[in-house]
Amino acid sequence: MKKRMIGLLMAVVFGCSLLAGCGNGEAPKASEAVQSSEAQMTDEPEETTSTETMETGTEQGSEPESASEITDYKGSLEGVTLKVGTDTSFVPFCFPDENNVYTGFDIDLLQAFSEYLGFEYEIQPMDFTALLMSVQTNKLDMGMAGITITDQRKEVMDFATPYYDAGLQIFVKEDNEEITSIADLEGKKLALKEGTASVQYVSDNVKDCTVTTFPNIEEAYLEVQRGAADAVVYDAPNMLYYVSQNTDCGAKVVGELVDGCQYGIVLNQGSEYTEYINAALKQFREDGTYDTIYKKWFGQ
Ligand code: GLN
Repeated sequence: MKKRMIGLLMAVVFGCSLLAGCGNGEAPKASEAVQSSEAQMTDEPEETTSTETMETGTEQGSEPESASEITDYKGSLEGVTLKVGTDTSFVPFCFPDENNVYTGFDIDLLQAFSEYLGFEYEIQPMDFTALLMSVQTNKLDMGMAGITITDQRKEVMDFATPYYDAGLQIFVKEDNEEITSIADLEGKKLALKEGTASVQYVSDNVKDCTVTTFPNIEEAYLEVQRGAADAVVYDAPNMLYYVSQNTDCGAKVVGELVDGCQYGIVLNQGSEYTEYINAALKQFREDGTYDTIYKKWFGQ
C-alpha cells in the first residue's frame, strides 16, 4: 500500500513531463470520439467520429470458451470486440492527448489486455455516471477509469481483481489556512464530482456541509478557484496533477490521504469476460507487464 501511495505522488512528477500540453482541463464531449484497438496498435492517432449507437449485449465475434476450461489465456478472446467505456478525463489513467487520442495508465493496460487475450476494443469516453450506468445496463462490456471498488457498485456490476491503490485528498485556495483536514470541512461549501466515491465519503464523514456536484472535476476545481466553494474532495493523483499543470490556479492540495481504496475494472454483472481479465492481470503481475506500465506513469 505504502509503495503505491508514493506512486501517487510520483504521478505528478512523471505525469507532468509525459502529459505536457494536456493541462488545459478540457476534454472532448462524450461520444465525440470512438477509439479502436487498431488505432492504438498502429500508433497512428487515428480518430473516427462514429455516430454508431450503442447496442445492448455483446454479440460480436465468436463466443469465448468457458474460462475455467482454459489453461493458456493467450489469444483466447480472438474474434471478440469489446466496448470499453472511459471517463472523459481522469489523469493520468485515461485522458485525451494533444491529438485527442486516449492515453494513460488504464489505456496502456487495456492495450496490453487486448494484445494478450487477442480481443479488439472500441473506446467510448463518457461522463462518469453514464459510464457506470452503461456498464450496469450492458451497453458497454467494460469500464476503465480509475474506478473505486465499493460494496454498493459490486451489487450491480462485476469488478476484476484490484489493480491500483489510491485515496482522497482536499483541494483548497492557496491562501486558505483554515482547512487542512477532513474535520475542517464541517459546515463548508464543497464541490464534488458527480457519482464518484468522494460523494459517498463526504456524506459519511462530513457534517453540515453544502455539496454541489459537477459531471467533470475541472468544473469543481474552478468553483474553488473562483471562491464559490471552499473545497473539493477527490482522488489524490488527479488533484495533484491538476495543481502541477495549472501552477497559476491559485489552489493547493492539503490533508492526509483518506479513504484508502482500490481501483478495479468494471464489467457486466456475471460477465464471461471477468475471468479473462483476472487471468491477464495475474499474468501481467508475474511477467512484469504491470510493473512496466506502472513505472511509465508513476515512476516506481
Ligand atoms: N475513483 C473515483 C470513483 O471511482 C473517481 C473516478 C473518476 O472520476 N473517474 O468514484
